[in-house]
This record gives sequence, C-alpha cells and structure tokens, in this order.
Amino acid sequence: MTFKIAIVGRPNVGKSTLFNRLVGKKIALVDDTPGVTRDRRVHDARLYDLRFEVIDTAGFEEAAAASLEGRMRAQTELAISEADLVLFMMDAKAGLTPNDRAFADVVRRSGKPVVLVANKAEARGAESGMFESFELGLGEPIPISSEHGQGMPDLREAIIAALGEERVFPDEDEEETAFALEPLVGEDVDPDAEEVPAYDPTKPMRIAVIGRPNAGKSTLINALVGEERLLTGPEAGITRDSISVEWEWRGRGIKLFDTAGMRRKARVQEKLERLSVADGLRAIRFAEVVIIVLDATIPFEKQDLQLADLIVREGRAPVIAFNKWDLIDNPQVLLAELREKTERLLPQARGIRAVTVSAETGRGLDKLMDAVLKTHEIWNRRISTGRLNRWLEGVIAHHPPPAVAGRRLKIKYITQVKARPPGFVISCSRPDAVPQSYIRYLVNGLRESFEIPGVPIRIMLRAPD
Ligand code: GDP
Ligand code: GDP
Repeated sequence: MTFKIAIVGRPNVGKSTLFNRLVGKKIALVDDTPGVTRDRRVHDARLYDLRFEVIDTAGFEEAAAASLEGRMRAQTELAISEADLVLFMMDAKAGLTPNDRAFADVVRRSGKPVVLVANKAEARGAESGMFESFELGLGEPIPISSEHGQGMPDLREAIIAALGEERVFPDEDEEETAFALEPLVGEDVDPDAEEVPAYDPTKPMRIAVIGRPNAGKSTLINALVGEERLLTGPEAGITRDSISVEWEWRGRGIKLFDTAGMRRKARVQEKLERLSVADGLRAIRFAEVVIIVLDATIPFEKQDLQLADLIVREGRAPVIAFNKWDLIDNPQVLLAELREKTERLLPQARGIRAVTVSAETGRGLDKLMDAVLKTHEIWNRRISTGRLNRWLEGVIAHHPPPAVAGRRLKIKYITQVKARPPGFVISCSRPDAVPQSYIRYLVNGLRESFEIPGVPIRIMLRAPD
C-alpha cells in the first residue's frame, strides 16, 4: 500500500510545478489563465526511492464560483481528508500573505501530518520569506525550488520523518523481508573481476533448479528432461561433486544442475531439512540461470527468499516457478497476490519473471523455458556508452543528485563495464557521499529505460581519474 500526499497552498506558490516534478510528466498545466476549472487529480509519483500518490489541488481557485473562497476551501479540505500527508507550500520569494494563513488554519485543524515547504527558495530575498513561514505553526520549513529541483533530498527526509519509516517503506516489515537486502552496489562490483565465463551460444546454457525440500524440484527436472535421463545417473547416495544432466530444448543445448541428485544424497545423510543454503549455493554458482521453485500452496517462506537473495547476490539470472498450480482453486486471485508479493519481497530483482507451472501435469513448462531464455538474454545485454550517457543527462536533469554538506554531487559519466549480470561504473565527485536512495533511483532508472527487468544490476561509483 502506498501513501497519498496533498499539495496545498494558495494560488501561485508553485504547487503545479512541484506536482509535475514528482509525477514526472507535464500533467498539471502551469498557467494562470483565470477561469480554467480543473478537476482534482491523483497521480503516481516518485521522489527518489519513495513511491506515492499526489493529489493535485491546483486550479480550484480559478473556478468562477459565487463563493470563491468557500469552494477553494471545500476542495482543499477534500484533498486533505484523502491524504496521509499534507505538503503545505508557501512562496518564500513573496513572503506570507493572509491567504497563506487561512490555508494553514485548514491544514492545522485537519490534524494530518504536515511538511511545510518554502518554495522559490533559490530566488533573491527568499530567506526572509522562509523565516516568516515559521509563524504558520506548521513546523520548520524545508527550503526548496520546485522549478530547479533543489531541496529534493531534504524533502524526501522530511516526508519520511513525518510519516514514519514503517509507513513509507511498508515492505521493509522485518518478518517478511528479512532477506530482501539492499541493491548490489559499491564493493560488490569489482569491474576487474571475472565475469561468469563468456557467453558462447554453441555451448549449453547452464541452469540450476533450486528450492525448499518438497517444492517439486525433482518432479520438475524429471518433467523437463525426461524420467529415464535422470534415473540413469549414478546410484543415490554416492558422493558427487557436481551433478549435471545435458539435454536439449527446442534445439538448444542445456546443461542442468541436478538438485534431485543432491537431494538423494541428503536423504542418505538424513539431513533433508538441512539441505539448502550451502548446496543451493553450489547449484547457483554452477548456473547462469537459476529456476527457483516455490510451492504455490505455501509460497515465500523465509528460505525461499533467502535462496532468491543468494541468486541475486551471486549475480545469476533468476526465474521463479510457482509450482503445484494444479492444486490452486482460485488461480486468478492467487496470481495477482503472488505478483504483488514478488515485487515487494524481491526488490533486488524488480521485474523478475515468474511462471505458474505444474511439474506433475507438465503444464506451463514451455512458458517456463521461454522465461529462462528471455532472462538469459537480458542478463547478457550490453548497452552502448552513448545511449547510457544520453540517458544519464536526462535522469540528472529530472532529479539532480543531492547536495551533501552544502556541495552538490557531480555525476559525470556512465559506462557498462560488464554483462552477465549488467554492471556499470559511474564516475562522480565524492562517490562515498552518494546516498543509497540516489543509487537505487539510478538502478531503477536503468532497469526501466533499457528494459533490464528481473536480473541483478550492479553499479560502482568511482571518482574520476
Ligand atoms: P500553483 O498555482 O501553486 O500551482 O503554482 P504554479 O506551479 O502554477 O507556479 C506559479 C508560478 O511560480 C509559475 O510562474 C512558476 O513558474 C513559478 N514557480 C514555481 N516554482 C518556482 C520556484 O521554485 N522558483 C521560482 N522562482 N518560481 C517558481
Ligand atoms: P523436491 O523435494 O523439491 O525435489 O520435491 P519433489 O519433486 O520430490 O516433490 C515433492 C512432492 O510434491 C511430491 O509428492 C510430488 O509428487 C509433489 N509435486 C511436485 N510437483 C507437483 C505439482 O505440480 N502438483 C502436485 N499436485 N504435486 C506436485
């Protein structure tokens, strides 16, 4: 669940300008033609890593109603009543006006959490206006410039402080996301480290199937490869280092890491329930693409998330198979729920491909293999430096990097240094000072703009040589 913000203030303080910046499109018209009646609008918005909805109240004041003030107030009250947080905006350049005080009264009476912003703070003389705004009794003003994008990191902090971390980041509730970790940044990326051995289409693609005991891994492998193939392997219980089966899918060579073999071994050792992370890791390291099998009747147990996280940390390409789909009574409802959970619990691989299958009946296996091939292709993707830097310019213009200790961070250049998984080096002043939230913003931007869903993306920040 996301939260809603109402941007409130008298006409011309700059509400629409901020609205446009948060929504990322020119939706609210910035114009002062009188008589333009616009409806209240709610839009998906984003400020760095915060995602929310904004209610735009701009334009009400233009309504040529008999009781202008009454109508304005009613509309504002309505917007406030729907909001979780009120962003009260004043114009620091113009200073406080009686109208500001009237609006502030409405906001104060609502009892909603408020963030006071002093807009146009870049303008000459804005300081005195900003200090005046303390008089509103809405707390300390955050100086911003909607037009120039200044003060946005402070605005982010203020929103988090006003609403509380739990409300702003609901998915970071500890029980469920104990294993949903930070995106892979910083020291995780060593541009000089070896890639997973280069892609060679003539060589078989390496796949591992992992998951909790009883999720249906052996059944799935058998369904994919064919029963006999697996049974011709060495006897159960014989210690082997790595167990792989070669087969073909639509003419494409594939090498499968046989976790079923691992399991047979574990059974002999009577440590069934202790199988997993260590053995899972071995399978993951073997593979390019890892199919994580979840039992759709009991999905997303801790261990599932732990394994998924491991896959991402190891830089492999994950695909989810929701297995035992034949047992599900209400597939549409469950599917929607699982989709939502997948995005929420695995933010490190946003857009991860998830397919419903029944290993027992063989349904969905084609879709699963399509997802595997597609994910493998994305994982191998390379983007030209020219395209990346054109993108970077736009991104920085939209949300400039924050200023740290009064100095603006400068981001200069981006280049992809590796594929498998995609890894980027960004050259910038003071790499250590760039906040995680801004890095997340860049990662998400790369994902969306270059269509790199569902695979790990790595970024390393480097000071220019
Ligand atoms: P609204 O009526 O509150 O929605 O205000 P608008 O967003 O339409 O802005 C009113 C005027 O203030 C427009 O001419 C904007 O260009 C200008 N404006 C908005 N934000 C800023 C800012 O940060 N600095 C300056 N100097 N002008 C701004
Ligand atoms: P593994 O421990 O992950 O290798 O799981 P298995 O492949 O041994 O399967 C565990 C149990 O789930 C077995 O009883 C399977 O018959 C059953 N099973 C596996 N896949 C499916 C499926 O798609 N549908 C149903 N109904 N049962 C399944």
